[in-house]
Amino acid sequence: MLTSIITIGDELLIGQTIDTNSAWMAQRLNDMGIWVHRRVAIGDKREDILSALRQESSVSQIVLITGGLGPTADDITKPILCEYFNTQLVQNEEALKNVLHIFESRGLPILERNIEQSMVPESAIIIQNDWGTAPGMWFEKEGVIYVSMPGVPYEMQGVMTSYVLPQLEKHFKTPAVMHQTVVTSGMGESFVAERLVAFEASLPPHFSLAYLPSYSLLKLRLSAFGSEKLEIAAEMSTLFHELKALVEDITVSDQDIPIAQVIGQLLHEKGKTVGTAESCTGGLISSQITSISGSSAYYKGSVVTYANEMKVRLLGVNPATLKAYGAVSEETVVEMVTGALKILETDYAIAVTGIMGPDGGTPEKPVGTVWIAVADANTIITKKHHLRYDRERNTNMAAVYAMNELRKL
Ligand code: ATP
Ligand code: MG
Repeated sequence: MLTSIITIGDELLIGQTIDTNSAWMAQRLNDMGIWVHRRVAIGDKREDILSALRQESSVSQIVLITGGLGPTADDITKPILCEYFNTQLVQNEEALKNVLHIFESRGLPILERNIEQSMVPESAIIIQNDWGTAPGMWFEKEGVIYVSMPGVPYEMQGVMTSYVLPQLEKHFKTPAVMHQTVVTSGMGESFVAERLVAFEASLPPHFSLAYLPSYSLLKLRLSAFGSEKLEIAAEMSTLFHELKALVEDITVSDQDIPIAQVIGQLLHEKGKTVGTAESCTGGLISSQITSISGSSAYYKGSVVTYANEMKVRLLGVNPATLKAYGAVSEETVVEMVTGALKILETDYAIAVTGIMGPDGGTPEKPVGTVWIAVADANTIITKKHHLRYDRERNTNMAAVYAMNELRKL
């Protein structure tokens, strides 16, 4: 079953808004075995919308559209849909009730342009939008299903989850799809690929292996497509087992979960606690650890010490150490990690200090130099990295490296 996604909005083309809608939709559809083979982003322009509808319906049986349903003049999708489906706008009672309810419950006066949001193309099946004023619309024409949805991500997600996905599942007996992922670290993509040459060559045609690198970790995703779930499940189990054995020495997790969750699971199993002392990551590690529900069982907190004097005052780093070796040094990170253990009273601590760029490097300590330390009461492990990316990526990588380091203790 082939699907196209059309996202509409000038903001997508000028890069002001990143198109997260199609990624979200593609994931959900893929989970159901519906293959998205084209994603098209276009502006709020009549000719472009019409030609995208024509083009995509000529190659797909499902065309999903988001954006341009709002009450402002720049949102023109609805009249264009009427033109394309040769229908007209009519008042829809349910949609009107919904709009009135939203404005009343917020105590806002209702404007003519809001009322217009309950005008819908006559030939469309209307999909209730409990999250906003613009309803979704389902059309069928010459064997192709078209669904137009609001651009606001949570509105689109609501409409997709409550109606579109269940309907598509009913319409099409979708093939079975399975994915299993192993997360690795410490070996570059091309080296891992070398190691897996024979394994990849031995995969049956309905299996595929994807390499997904992100922030110093590499995910290996094994995917299977088939007509029967049970059938591919058995094969998947054998092949995933084989894959895991081949990368055992570099495996971080055999589940597709973030590194913060991996260390969370380890700490949980051991019944131990951790705290963090962050300089260059500015609390990112703390944020990632606390994004995992249940982290309060093992995470005590963070001391974010960006300035040198804070490293001294809050973590007890010796001013002489900072003077002699600088903030980005093994000596300083060791004092940060021992300070964190003491002050946060945890079993383990993680500390990071580095130069994230783009300014601030020196020939001895170029931009991207990061010192990481992890410790428990008996052991301290330190590690230096040279990151070569922009500030945002360097910071994310430093956070992932630091959390990953904890697994060594
Ligand atoms: P509504 O009727 O609720 O206003 P709409 O269909 O008019 O919805 P738009 O005006 O196109 O939606 O966009 C509303 C918001 O959603 C904007 O902030 C826009 O940046 C965001 N948005 C639109 N399309 C996408 C997309 N593909 N991915 C992520 N965000 C998007
Ligand atoms: Mg718009």
